[in-house]
Amino acid sequence: MKKVLITGAAGFLGSHLCDRLIKEGFFVAGMDNFITGDKRNLSHLYNHLNFEFIEHDVTQFINIEGDLDYILHFASPASPIDYLKIPIQTLKVGSLGTHNLLGLAKAKKARILIASTSEVYGDPLVHPQTEDYYGNVNTIGPRGVYDEAKRFQESITMAYHRFHGLETRIVRIFNTYGPRMRLNDGRVIPAFMGQALRGEDLTIFGDGSQTRSFCYVDDQVEGIFKLLLSDYSLPVNIGNPYEITIKEFAQEVIKLTGTSQKIIYKKLPQDDPLQRQPDVSLAKKILNWEPKIGQEKGMRMTFEYFKTLSQEELFKSDHKDFKNHIKK
Ligand code: NAD
Ligand code: UDP
Repeated sequence: MKKVLITGAAGFLGSHLCDRLIKEGFFVAGMDNFITGDKRNLSHLYNHLNFEFIEHDVTQFINIEGDLDYILHFASPASPIDYLKIPIQTLKVGSLGTHNLLGLAKAKKARILIASTSEVYGDPLVHPQTEDYYGNVNTIGPRGVYDEAKRFQESITMAYHRFHGLETRIVRIFNTYGPRMRLNDGRVIPAFMGQALRGEDLTIFGDGSQTRSFCYVDDQVEGIFKLLLSDYSLPVNIGNPYEITIKEFAQEVIKLTGTSQKIIYKKLPQDDPLQRQPDVSLAKKILNWEPKIGQEKGMRMTFEYFKTLSQEELFKSDHKDFKNHIKK
């Protein structure tokens, strides 16, 4: 049985990857320090024979006994609101954390897949974004802590590939959503759905003309799994090219949830990208992958999940206590 280490396992994408890899017959070691994740995302796996959990901060030296065949490095805050609150941890997990995991992969002769992001393109001047676009990132702006950590992550990964011959894969993930997102992580889908469920107005940042392209989690996981098993070591975009303005999107959420609340406008955060849409021709060509789940279906399944959360969960302003982590 092949063994895979998944970092960020208690997070949104990490927990879905644990499920998928177990289903594919792997033994999964999940690692997380819970800084933005939630133990409950893995509650169905703790007693599974093919799963073990290791509570650990990946910016510290990582020790794994025995053989390891694959590593999926997904540990990192991913919501702009999270990474603005914990900027140093965000920089460290993308840099020191990635260095540790590459070192581990080298020692174990394991193949490693790194979670990169559409944020490496910054506020893009090329549209839609193709993998050969170098990006437009403000290194010293508030989002720079995430964007530059991810850009460094890609560079060090390619260096390990070229210098040490390590088997590496890089996925550039575009906005992905679905069950197990943290309701209060600040990202637009949980934000709008939480507001609809609490009977609050939906907050649009800026005038809502900025665009995003949202990918349902099952499509994303399928793309990542195919990339892991491929022999392609340069970055690959995985996302859904269906592009929508945030204003239109808010109207879709209002229609889906049946809320009678209205839209209110707040200030656009600095360096918030004005447009984002993945060009997925490369993934289609080399992985024979394309997204299958449309926005309406994906949003319905996600809303069903948020509806199952308790009233207490729904009204908590933020159940993350970053202060505990910052003191360490
Ligand atoms: P998430 O916040 O739900 O999950 C991240 C997980 O990483 C959390 O469980 C957190 O506790 C853990 N973590 C953070 N720092 C850690 C550390 N130092 N040691 C151990 N664990 C740590 O976010 P997500 O949406 O699941 O994102 C997962 C990965 O995918 C991230 O690397 C993110 O950059 C990337 N990504 C996600 C999206 C998206 O739309 N969801 C888009 C682009 C990239
Ligand atoms: N956004 C918004 N209202 C919210 C949360 C987000 O209008 O309550 C906007 C945000 O400014 C951005 C888009 O929605 O333009 C997507 O934001 P998100 O935080 O989900 O991810 P990003 O793509 O910016 O990383």
